[in-house]
Amino acid sequence: MIKKYYLLSPGPTPIPDRVLSVAAEPIIHHRTAEFSKIFMEVTEGLKYVFQTKEDVYILASSGTGAMETAVINTLSPGDKVITINGGKFGERWGNICRAFGLDTKEVIIPWGEDYSPEKLADEIKKNPGVRAVFTTLSETSTGAIFDIKGFGEVVSETDAILVVDGISGLGATPCPMDEWKIDVMVTGSQKSFMIPPGLAYIAFSPKAWKFVESSRLPKFYYDIKKYRKNLEKQTTPWTPAISLIIQQNKALDLIKNMGLENLLKHHVLLGEATRTGVKAIGLELLAKKPGNILTAIKTPASIDGNKLVKTMQNKYMAYISNAQDPHKGEFFRIAHLGYMGGFDIVTALSALEMTLLDLGYSQFQPGASVAAAEKILREGWS
Ligand SMILES: *Cc1c(COP(=O)(O)O)cnc(C)c1O
Repeated sequence: MIKKYYLLSPGPTPIPDRVLSVAAEPIIHHRTAEFSKIFMEVTEGLKYVFQTKEDVYILASSGTGAMETAVINTLSPGDKVITINGGKFGERWGNICRAFGLDTKEVIIPWGEDYSPEKLADEIKKNPGVRAVFTTLSETSTGAIFDIKGFGEVVSETDAILVVDGISGLGATPCPMDEWKIDVMVTGSQKSFMIPPGLAYIAFSPKAWKFVESSRLPKFYYDIKKYRKNLEKQTTPWTPAISLIIQQNKALDLIKNMGLENLLKHHVLLGEATRTGVKAIGLELLAKKPGNILTAIKTPASIDGNKLVKTMQNKYMAYISNAQDPHKGEFFRIAHLGYMGGFDIVTALSALEMTLLDLGYSQFQPGASVAAAEKILREGWS
């Protein structure tokens, strides 16, 4: 069999051919009118996806760099913060905040469970003087979606800022920054933005900019004021990741041509098809409130989850993702994110069924997941 590679992970995600090919073009210099034009087009395009009037800054880092940027630019040593940890990425907020000496009140939620705005309101009441709340739009380690709109309503009534990790979620599930009263929004390039890893994006609300003015945590490379000053001159403080920005411009064309609303609807359809498919073969979802970015599926008790992922990857070259530590093997994750289409879901489900049969799990009608997904896809295809 030709070993054809199917990337079905929640980051990095597949890249459209015309976005791939621009990376092969000769490099241009970044202190030129030619580059500035592209840079400003990307900045505008990002504002469209963020749904914000504020400027969006482009960092040469993976998503975590933007998370760190959010922390160090808004806070001061010893500030009290709340971090919502419902999985690996929510946990990262706590790790970053503690690394910078913040008084970190970490709310730990079992993986896949929800957390309500009411509970957040109580937590804020219990912690007078809290300066910031850190949360996650789409918890990529579990597939769960959090009620950012509800969190925005709660936090906007206080003196604290709401900082949202939209890496994987933004551009795939609704999250209008300004309308939902988000103060700092961060995301990365390799999930819904359809380009390789290496860029991160961040925007600040007027309330957050006031925090920036008084922030005393140390910063240099990620000092957002340097970015703000340089953006006025249509450039970046340091050498930007030129080729990635050019690729992002191409990918944003695709997003703008399709329209954000249609792109979000597309993710709803793929999510629904995936969930319906796996349920049709008797498997269970992990998240109580699954998003349309990825689907986390519990490993049937009789089989080895690590083997399942390895077989899908090594035999069928279907690169789904294992659960992360400490839940490796307990569930696995199929993405429907970024530049993925209906047939990627069919591929994922087909490879899953074949893998289950290989591992001796046969309590289902072969083809049932694919048939169920096809039905949803046919009805919603437009
Ligand atoms: C991928 C991801 C991150 C980490 O981003 P890196 O690009 O690996 O630094 C953080 N949060 C969420 C929700 C993610 O999906």
